[in-house]
Amino acid sequence: MSEVATLVLVVEDEAQMLRFLRNALSAQGYRVVEAETAREALVAATTYNPELVLLDLGLPDGDGIEVARQLRGWSRVPVIVISARGREDDKVAALDAGADDYLTKPFGVQELLARMRVALRHAALAGTDSTSTVLTSGPLRIDQARREVSLEGREVHLTPIEYRLLVLLAKNAGKVLTHRQILKEVWGPPYASQTHYLRVFMAQLRRKVEPDPARPRLLVTEPGVGYRLKDS
Ligand code: CA
Repeated sequence: MSEVATLVLVVEDEAQMLRFLRNALSAQGYRVVEAETAREALVAATTYNPELVLLDLGLPDGDGIEVARQLRGWSRVPVIVISARGREDDKVAALDAGADDYLTKPFGVQELLARMRVALRHAALAGTDSTSTVLTSGPLRIDQARREVSLEGREVHLTPIEYRLLVLLAKNAGKVLTHRQILKEVWGPPYASQTHYLRVFMAQLRRKVEPDPARPRLLVTEPGVGYRLKDS
């Protein structure tokens, strides 16, 4: 991270929640810009060029999902949705609209800070060439140059689809990916709604890399939403 404090745009219309976020972030050394409406959010995003956006969905003049979609038209800034809407459909819609992560209110400040660190790390890595790097998550190690995967030092043999699936999740470690996002990346856009493909391959992959496939510790299910590889 740079010497200058990271600038976070907080989009939230509830005064109490806004105060909580402002205090929590300032205490951690973040600089905070605030917006209380969808319109203000888009203006603030262009004016201040924040490094991260925390986005409420229920805004007085519109839906945060639309804000996320518009932002994605011209910006790659990481967006974490913070919403009281806990329904799976809402999470999927926000993530598919381009949000990077989703936290359901009420949430703990430590959880929020951890998700922010993950999002910022991903944003920092996005600009670098990741094709020659080694990815790790806990006991898992993926050498992309050699196309080799090992678990606690022991080599694991994966099919091409399993490998692509694991690399995609590893590149996004700590971040939830929707079924649709994974299917589009690994199988291609025509397969975006074939969730059964994903279930089958995820089960195979877990049998190969999880110590106890019935209780996955690395490849975590986000019920009704997608999957997340645990960030080490
Ligand atoms: Ca609200």
